[in-house]
Amino acid sequence: MCTTSEKYNPYDNVVSTVKHAASLLQYDSSDYEAVLHPERELKVSVPVRMDDGSVRVFEGYRVQHSTSRGPAKGGIRYHQNVNIDEVKALAAWMTFKCAVVNIPYGGGKGGIICDPSELSEAEIRRLTRRFTAMIAPIIGPEQDIPAPDVGTNANVMGWIMDTYSMLKGHCVPGVVTGKPLELGGALGRSEATGRGVMITALNILRALHLPISGTTVAVQGMGNVGSVSAKLLHMAGMKVVGVSDVSGGLYCADGLDIPNIIQYLSEKRGNLLKDYKKENVVHIANEELLELDTVLLVPAALENQIHAGNADKIQAKVIVEGANGPTSVEADEILKKKGIILVPDILANAGGVIVSYFEWVQNIQSVNWSEEHVNEQLKEIMDQAFKSVWDISQEKGTTLRTGAYLIAVKRVIDAKNLRGIWP
Ligand code: GLU
Repeated sequence: MCTTSEKYNPYDNVVSTVKHAASLLQYDSSDYEAVLHPERELKVSVPVRMDDGSVRVFEGYRVQHSTSRGPAKGGIRYHQNVNIDEVKALAAWMTFKCAVVNIPYGGGKGGIICDPSELSEAEIRRLTRRFTAMIAPIIGPEQDIPAPDVGTNANVMGWIMDTYSMLKGHCVPGVVTGKPLELGGALGRSEATGRGVMITALNILRALHLPISGTTVAVQGMGNVGSVSAKLLHMAGMKVVGVSDVSGGLYCADGLDIPNIIQYLSEKRGNLLKDYKKENVVHIANEELLELDTVLLVPAALENQIHAGNADKIQAKVIVEGANGPTSVEADEILKKKGIILVPDILANAGGVIVSYFEWVQNIQSVNWSEEHVNEQLKEIMDQAFKSVWDISQEKGTTLRTGAYLIAVKRVIDAKNLRGIWP
């Protein structure tokens, strides 16, 4: 993760954004004080028998930021840089993401400090099962519903579903979303975040009266979000000239062969862009990818990638945040001064949790939706949320991030205040 200062704390980012929106909404601090603190933070030490017979203990977390508007909802991240402040921030972003697109959830997030690329599949399965057992007392279809995030996938969700179901003594598909289709997963879920990024990109380009066909794009990150975003933007007729993963980036002025790159990455676990070879494709550093002269930039990797140290060098006209928290508060100010339009994470990457909601709805009602229906409903919610955020930002003269938080913070604070403080 790039950081310009030792002190970068993503949770401070959230607090400052929420306070700013709450003050514009003229709430009193006692109206929103509770929203600045996660409701519950659980830390667990997860022992795992490794393949060589030794025992390793991993640290894991589950944070429930808010349950005011519904059960906590949010992914589980497996990454070596996971820490409690990051999980708290990610949990809070889920609260405001669910609120801005108006689905009936609060926000939560989990994480385990581990590098999944160094673990075998069997080790990941044992880690997941033990972690699930340790967070089982606080999760459930009506309490807190995990999902995939960086470093986790449908298989991991399947093991969570099985472990939880074994503990309960009956099948509980609604405890987790992003499951394999065979276990009650939703059609369209695996592509949903990237599809939402594509829908958002088209919406913002149209709103700014910019063309779509041939528009140049750079995508940072080739995980689930980045690769599907790149694929769908390419299919929508845009020219994806740059992509990157942890190992570095690729650039081609005439547009990259995105289907070929995705095929290469999925051929073998461990395939990296630094080893990809094709005529006219130049290898660039990750930092250079962010600074490419494109119309659209999609940061779809980790937090704090655009920060005070590089914001001034960003040349894109429009940024659509596929990742959670890729832009620091200081960078936001710099981008605003430069006239760069940014569609914030809580709106732009909400496609994943929206289709997670559809998956949960199907699970608890024991019904199946077609992929076409899922995609139509996703588009309807994303378009509606985009319009509300665009309209309020135009009306109040704010950035789109502030506009999104004006809507989301109001929904969360009003729900909290209507419920009141019990007892
Ligand atoms: N991890 C995804 C996110 O950050 C999806 C969460 C979910 O589906 O609950 O939005």
